[in-house]
Order: sequence, then structure tokens, then C-alpha cells
Amino acid sequence: MESVYLTGRPALDFAATLRWRASLREELLATPGDLAAWAVRAGLVTEPVPAGPGDLAGLLRLRETIYRMVTARLRAEPWSEEDLDALHDAAAAPPVTLHLAPDGALRRAGDWRAVASVLARDALDLLGGPDAARVRRCAAEGCTRLYVDHSRGHTRRWCDMAECGSKSKAASYRRRRAGTAR
Ligand SMILES: [Zn+2]
Repeated sequence: MESVYLTGRPALDFAATLRWRASLREELLATPGDLAAWAVRAGLVTEPVPAGPGDLAGLLRLRETIYRMVTARLRAEPWSEEDLDALHDAAAAPPVTLHLAPDGALRRAGDWRAVASVLARDALDLLGGPDAARVRRCAAEGCTRLYVDHSRGHTRRWCDMAECGSKSKAASYRRRRAGTAR
């Protein structure tokens, strides 16, 4: 799995496709093609769904709505009514359909409204369920990824041990060494 899918929830994996939100703002979904490829890699649909600029714009609006609402929950702040309405609207559409073939292969298919519905439903389920209290923001400097802490003792600090975790550990090691050298 690429490090794009490790938050524990499709809605948060989706929110994580804009990285370093407070600084570099690295956009992983820059084109409709990026979005189509991401939806397959994220396991939302089996075959790429043709996407146009309007589909991308709509999905990115939903992504930012999800990010704002989960961040508000994290800060124990109220979310806006507009954001909640947008999430309810997206979730009201029929989601991606599942088709199980005789050989056991599962196929997921639908248009972008269906994909948006799956993501919005996951966001609502996250915000209204037990995972809401376990949402964390990565402790690495500048990283704005959100994830669900399912670790025992709830001690997970980074979105990705290999990426943010090892970088943070190396930085604190350097700080400690610099401190003892004085
Ligand atoms: Zn991180």
C-alpha cells in the first residue's frame, strides 16, 4: 500500500490527498485523471471512472468540507451548517454498487456522485461514531494528515511511521545530540 492509504478511513484518506496544508500544499489530485486513478487505488471503484473538470471540482469541494468538519470535531468546535448540508446532500445519492461474481471477485462500480456518496457516508459515520474521539492530527512538523488512532493505549503519533515517524525521530535525535554537545 502506498502511504496515501493509512488513515484508517476512506474519508480521511481522501482528505489527505492535499498534503502539508499549512505550508507547501502538495495537491495529489491535480487533474481529473489523478482523481480517477486515486479512486481505483483507494479501492472505491474497480475500474477507473471517466472524470472531467467538473467532477474533479465537485469532489475537491467535498474533500474540503470533510477536512473542515473533521478538523472542527478535533478542536471541539461546531461545524458550519453549510458544510453539514453539503455532506448530507452528497451522502443522500445512491452509493457505489457491489457486484459479486461467481468466481468470488467483487466489483465496485458507479459514477462520481456514487463515489462522493461513499466518501460522504464514511465521513458522517466517522463523525457520529466511536472513531470520532480517536481522530488525531499527525505530530510531525508541518504534516496536516488526520488519522484514526486504533493503536493499543492510543499512543500512535504519526500518520506514517516510515515517513513522518522516522523523520521526527531523527530530528529529535539531532536536537538531543546538539544539546549534549554544548
Ligand atoms: Zn504525517
